Amino acid sequence: MKKMVTVFFDLEACLDAPSKRRFDLRENMQKISKILDKHKVRAAFNTCGIVVERFPDMIKELHNKGHEIASHGYAHENFVQLEQIGELGAVLRKTEKLVEDITDEKLFGVRSPWLIHNKRVYSILKKRGYKWVSNRSIFRTEILKAPGTAFPLVKYLFFSMLWKTYKKEPFKIGGLLEIPLLSSQDGELLELVDPKQKSPKNRLDFAYQSLKTQFDKSGKIFNLNFHPWLIGSANRSALLDRILDYITSHEVEFVLPKDILKK
Ligand SMILES: [Zn+2]
Repeated sequence: MKKMVTVFFDLEACLDAPSKRRFDLRENMQKISKILDKHKVRAAFNTCGIVVERFPDMIKELHNKGHEIASHGYAHENFVQLEQIGELGAVLRKTEKLVEDITDEKLFGVRSPWLIHNKRVYSILKKRGYKWVSNRSIFRTEILKAPGTAFPLVKYLFFSMLWKTYKKEPFKIGGLLEIPLLSSQDGELLELVDPKQKSPKNRLDFAYQSLKTQFDKSGKIFNLNFHPWLIGSANRSALLDRILDYITSHEVEFVLPKDILKK
């Protein structure tokens, strides 16, 4: 059986945060879209409602190209806090309506902002009809070899051990399918740099080598996890192109999370 690969992008709302103001989401998304087209990859976009409101045509285009639109809250809220004040359902509904008005299709999945979740959050997601979530991640030891950092052996051994116990395939939890993160996120690989700032070549090489190792070490299923504001800005989209070049040179099948539900 071919290895299944899913590519996730968290399409976030933090367009107004001062540190993230200096980028053009449309331009970043065009770069990303071109690379996905080149490799014939359909991806999952975990999207904030606020992005749907501002860029409905962009969401429509992603949907028409066969990408999956999932929820990432309305304005990148903390779902646990929202649940505590009884507002999670209403916030989820807002994004569902925005997306469904465009795609004419029910949302299947959701990724919690900052991956923050608990049992009560999951029970509300289940009640609202969601089928998959993707909120479980683990620190990957490849990050410890980042350029310019001292290598902490104890930490390396600890996380190597923890990785052995980490669930590396989707599993059922509270009636939902949890799709665990199987690669380091772009923010960990490249650091949360100012979008206008270029990433040095050694940092991009390090990020590529890390993702390559993580892909090689993976089993039946693998996923990549990016953020358009970061991977699509300055010179970083080259990393997306390069890792997709590597992955597509193997026997793999790119799948959407909603397809995994049927497997
Ligand atoms: Zn996010």
